[in-house]
Amino acid sequence: MKIYDFQLGPIETNVYVILPDSGTGAIAVDAAEGAEEQLGDFLKKNGRSLTALLVTHAHWDHVWDARRLRDNLGAKIYAHADSAPFMEVDGAQDKYMFDSRRLESAHIDMRLSDGDVLDIDGVKIKCLSVPGHMDGSMAYVLEDESPKKAFVGDLLFEEGVGRWDLPTGDFSKLEKSIREKIYTLPEDTVLLPGHGPFTTVGRERSSNPYVRP
Ligand SMILES: [Zn+2]
Ligand SMILES: [Zn+2]
Repeated sequence: MKIYDFQLGPIETNVYVILPDSGTGAIAVDAAEGAEEQLGDFLKKNGRSLTALLVTHAHWDHVWDARRLRDNLGAKIYAHADSAPFMEVDGAQDKYMFDSRRLESAHIDMRLSDGDVLDIDGVKIKCLSVPGHMDGSMAYVLEDESPKKAFVGDLLFEEGVGRWDLPTGDFSKLEKSIREKIYTLPEDTVLLPGHGPFTTVGRERSSNPYVRP
C-alpha cells in the first residue's frame, strides 16, 4: 500500500490517505479543512474512490470536512463512540473556534471501541482507545505492514505530546495511553501524528521528554 500525507487547514493538520495495493478504494485518516477538495482531486487522478474516513479524534481541526467527505465523496465515517457528542451535534465545538464559523455535524457510521479490528479494502486496521488528549481519541495500527504503522492523532508527537488542558483532556490518562498502548508496540513501528513529522516508538521511548517508558 501507499500512504500520502496532506497538511491542511489553519494549523497544518496531517490528513493521510491510504491507497491499498489492489482495488479502487482509498482510506482517509482525519478530515481537516480543505480535505474534500484536495482528496477529491487526488483520488480522481488515481482512479480511486473514498471508502472510509478514520477519525483519530473529534477536534475541529481533524473533522472539519468530515461531513463533506461522507456526503460528497461517499466515505463511511469510523470513530470512537465517545466522539459522538463532539461530532454529531451542531455547534458542539463553537467555543473552541478561532472565528464565528460553525463546525458541521457529521454522522458516525461505525462506532468503534478499543481492540476492534477492521478490514477495509483488504487493509487490516487495529483500533486502540487512547484517551488523554480528548475523550474518544483513537490510534489506528496497520498490523500487516512491515514495519507496522500507527496513526496516533494528537496523542503523541515527535518529542512531544498533545495538549491535555482542553475539555476531557487529562495528563494521567494521556500518559497511561502512551505507556500502555503505544510504547508496547514494536520499537520500529512508525508513528504518524496529527501534526508535524513522523517518528517511531523506539525514538519516543528513548527521548520523549513528557512520557518516559
Ligand atoms: Zn486535537
Ligand atoms: Zn490537532
